[in-house]
Amino acid sequence: INFQPTSFLISAADIRQLPADTGVEIAFAGRSNAGKSSALNTLTRQKSLARTSKTPGRTQLINVFEVSPERRLIDLPGYGYAKVPIAVKEKWQMALSEYLQRRESLRGLVLLMDIRHPYRDVDQELLYWAAESGIPVLILLTKADKLKPGIRKSTLLKAREAAMVFGGEVTVEVFSSLTKIGLSELEDHLTHWFTQ
Ligand code: GDP
Repeated sequence: INFQPTSFLISAADIRQLPADTGVEIAFAGRSNAGKSSALNTLTRQKSLARTSKTPGRTQLINVFEVSPERRLIDLPGYGYAKVPIAVKEKWQMALSEYLQRRESLRGLVLLMDIRHPYRDVDQELLYWAAESGIPVLILLTKADKLKPGIRKSTLLKAREAAMVFGGEVTVEVFSSLTKIGLSELEDHLTHWFTQ
């Protein structure tokens, strides 16, 4: 699949405002600052398709992109802001788990984690929910250019071992928007999910 023609479709304030649950969609999730927007822009060869709000207090939107008719990429709001009130965090986590459980068109979840600090709390919860819901997950260890090749490799192997704890179908790859390492693996994985 060519991801370059991807275009912005809509922003949704919550799960209920998403487009009709038809076709195939793939969701992108991660802690804020994990490199999710950069990865979406790298994938689609666009400079500013996905943008992040660095303002914790602001309402966070779900951005929906269309690769082609009935093929969507869902950019879920980044989580992990220390300043967000617990009530807001809990509400969002409930919505997220409901989305993973109920969304018929959802065929895969791309979970982005900074290679220097993977498997933080909400990352782990997401992995459990995805496993429970039978949603396959592709973990991208982002900003892989920050580590030397040897350490990168050992971190990847450790992360693959750690992924097994959660059960479910989990693949782990390294990724860098800077060097494009892992880009072809990401494209292959998404193409597989979209066309299977
Ligand atoms: P988001 O909050 O998950 O959407 O993260 P962004 O894509 O906005 O990236 C957060 C920060 O990490 C920005 O300063 C990016 O320039 C930086 N960043 C993102 N991807 C990479 C990468 O592959 N390598 C490096 N070195 N920095 C990156």
